[in-house]
Amino acid sequence: MARDALGRTIDYLRISVTERCNFRCVYCMPEEGLPWRAHSEMLDYGDIERLVRIATQFGIRRIRLTGGEPLARRSIEDLVARLVKIDGIEAVALTTNGALLPAKAQALKDAGLSRVNISLDTLDPVKFAQVTRRGRLEDTLAGIDAALSYGFDPVKVNCVAVKSLDQDFTAFAKMTIDRPLHIRFIEFMPIGDTGCGGTNWTSADIIPSIQLMEQINAGLAAEGIPELVSAKNGSPVTWGPATSFRIPGAQGTVGFITPMSNHFCGACNRVRVTADGKLRPCLFSDREYEALDVLRNGTDEDVARILETAIRTKPADHVGITGTERGMSQIGG
Ligand code: SAM
Ligand code: SF4
Repeated sequence: MARDALGRTIDYLRISVTERCNFRCVYCMPEEGLPWRAHSEMLDYGDIERLVRIATQFGIRRIRLTGGEPLARRSIEDLVARLVKIDGIEAVALTTNGALLPAKAQALKDAGLSRVNISLDTLDPVKFAQVTRRGRLEDTLAGIDAALSYGFDPVKVNCVAVKSLDQDFTAFAKMTIDRPLHIRFIEFMPIGDTGCGGTNWTSADIIPSIQLMEQINAGLAAEGIPELVSAKNGSPVTWGPATSFRIPGAQGTVGFITPMSNHFCGACNRVRVTADGKLRPCLFSDREYEALDVLRNGTDEDVARILETAIRTKPADHVGITGTERGMSQIGG
């Protein structure tokens, strides 16, 4: 089991498989996209498989594929199939905007993907088009339907909560009543020089979870629905730092993730690798270690050494770090 310098167990690797995306969310990517790198500058599936195989020696057990939009990478199901076969890997999950999921769900299920997170920030079709710039609400909703009908478990919906968007959080919470959906509200993170420049949102736009919960409870009460209660017993296996609640009797849960107002760095269990092969100990810190070159030209010991360094040098927290050079689509949010 790998422990970092502070004794935190690191068993989770998030892999960005592409920087490209079929959406251009205003808080993540500029409208015109980014200067895309050549394929040769990106990790190929062989590089990723090798990295994961060596990472299992350090206790990495769980993998999440992200991006950019991971379903936009060709034959992503082939990568899933390769990763699930690696000894020591317990689960491979994916974070997606959902639009390509109806077409890909069967192949991903057959390949052995177990868990899916789908990003959805608003249930209003007009606002959805404004936020994503290229997306259609109905496509992402169809992606959620596909994830549930193909039996991925759990299916989580990630909603970035921001004051400026005027979202209907109660409507999101009600989505968990009849279906085993796990909604997680995530605080907007004002990071990324190449990312959130598409908004004028600042830290003033962050909605503290306590306020969000009060808003949801008031909305539920207005409709005669009981308030959220702790979902501690019977909540889905969580990999993450969400605090979970449930509408009494509901199939799914409602969670709050507070990277900004209440850091959970003390329980951080992850390292990341970017699509261009940089190992990144912390989402918020620009410290990165070059892995692509080592994966192409180094020995297994060289790769192990760089993984060990990335794990060992995870910062204690991100206090005082307010921005990064890369936006979320480049880091792999
Ligand atoms: N394209 C996929 C998707 O949207 O789910 C995967 C990559 S995307 C970068 C991963 C997650 O990061 C999404 O849930 C997105 O909402 C979130 N994200 C991007 N920029 C963010 C920001 N500035 N603050 C908070 N979350 C952000
Ligand atoms: Fe694409 Fe996901 Fe970023 Fe939106 S949040 S632009 S879907 S990578």
